[in-house]
Amino acid sequence: MHKKTENLINLDRQYLWHPFTQMKTWLACDPVVIESGDGFYLIDTEGNRYIDAISSLWCNVHGHRVKKIDDAIKDQLDKIAHSTLLGLAQTKSIELAEKLVAITPKNLQKVFYSDSGATSVEIALKIAYQYYQNQGQKRNKFIALGQSYHGDTIGSVSVGGIELFHSIFKPMLFDTYFVPAPFPYRFDGTAEECKKFTLDKIEETLKKHSDSIAALIVEPLVQGAAGIIVHPKGFLKETRALTKKYDTILITDEVATGFGKTGKMFACEIEQIEPDIMCLAKGITAGYLPLAATLTTQKIFDAFLGNPDDFKTFYHGHTYTGNALGCAAALASLELFEENKILESLSAKIDLIADYLKKISSLNFVGNTRQRGMMTGIEIVKDKQTKKSFDYEKFIGAKLCAAMRSKGVMLRPLSDVIVLMPPIAINLDTLKKLLDILYDTIKNDLPKIVK
Ligand SMILES: *Cc1c(COP(=O)(O)O)cnc(C)c1O
Repeated sequence: MHKKTENLINLDRQYLWHPFTQMKTWLACDPVVIESGDGFYLIDTEGNRYIDAISSLWCNVHGHRVKKIDDAIKDQLDKIAHSTLLGLAQTKSIELAEKLVAITPKNLQKVFYSDSGATSVEIALKIAYQYYQNQGQKRNKFIALGQSYHGDTIGSVSVGGIELFHSIFKPMLFDTYFVPAPFPYRFDGTAEECKKFTLDKIEETLKKHSDSIAALIVEPLVQGAAGIIVHPKGFLKETRALTKKYDTILITDEVATGFGKTGKMFACEIEQIEPDIMCLAKGITAGYLPLAATLTTQKIFDAFLGNPDDFKTFYHGHTYTGNALGCAAALASLELFEENKILESLSAKIDLIADYLKKISSLNFVGNTRQRGMMTGIEIVKDKQTKKSFDYEKFIGAKLCAAMRSKGVMLRPLSDVIVLMPPIAINLDTLKKLLDILYDTIKNDLPKIVK
């Protein structure tokens, strides 16, 4: 190891606290220190190259150091990096809002900016709540799915259903009605029955509490952080129908699914639904800068109009709301979607992943493979028949990813689910290389790891 790397690791150990990380474990290992990027590769301080197989936590779209985005940010830097949207308008935030309204479902007409997925969800929840308050209705409850993930701020955690992350904070949270996620692999019955089971629970909850429910929030089609739970076909469309029937706002959190990951620009397009509120973050700037947007309908927006002393104003904002550098990066990314025909290029890659999953699913210890577009989960289990998982303390998923790292693939598991989410613009050659390493490691290294 080079002296420079050693120094950096020591400083990291001395000064940093990493997210979602048991720091005792961290302090006992030598982390990879990333210094640069090159297309779909990350490069560490030792000069090792790794395929960025989780797109730098699900946000990178076109790769790293993409000239057009780099230049757009540099150009914007020559004008201004940031100015506030509180009381002022700003060129790039206007241009981007027009584009976002044009590419999202057509009922979405207004863009409220913030800076992370969690804040985009906080904003959605607060808008839904105040929308009813402004009309004299007291609706302060939400419906969410079990094992859902919407970010780590208190409001987002309140609608989150991942026990491992969320249960410790329970006493701090507001009440939410949770219905079980439609997760066919862990359901005793067919996918159709699984879907119906959840839909019935949703309808029951809506029927019983409809005048106190402000919104139902859902990750459309795929629950990412739960381990790539892919919902049964039609679930989203029927959920939309139920929220309409009981006159409740539907919030779709497209923070993970947005910007091409499901095969279309947005997951909502696949089941042709229009949500009342949509949350966007992660891929919005192609993984360059922190920016988020919450989109709403004209009807919701109009419910906040009034004289200042009507107190209908939405009193919410962040210092970096609508940051100009972030908006410039987002605009360049959207141009690249068109120039490089990114969406049109996806089906060949999606098919290639599906081909490999067929082979992978027959390997030992592979309980279930799940794919929706470029989002893939491979669930490792102790017993394929009973679907019994390995003990948590065995850290099988983490060890498997470590084995792939030494072969030049950077992955991060969710417990024992290996999550594959490369930048969607990845070329077929690099994707194939990544899938070969994945197949080889599950076939040859996993049996030794589980011993
Ligand atoms: C990642 C994620 C979030 C949180 O986004 P941050 O930018 O990390 O706050 C919210 N919802 C979903 C579905 C996500 O995948």
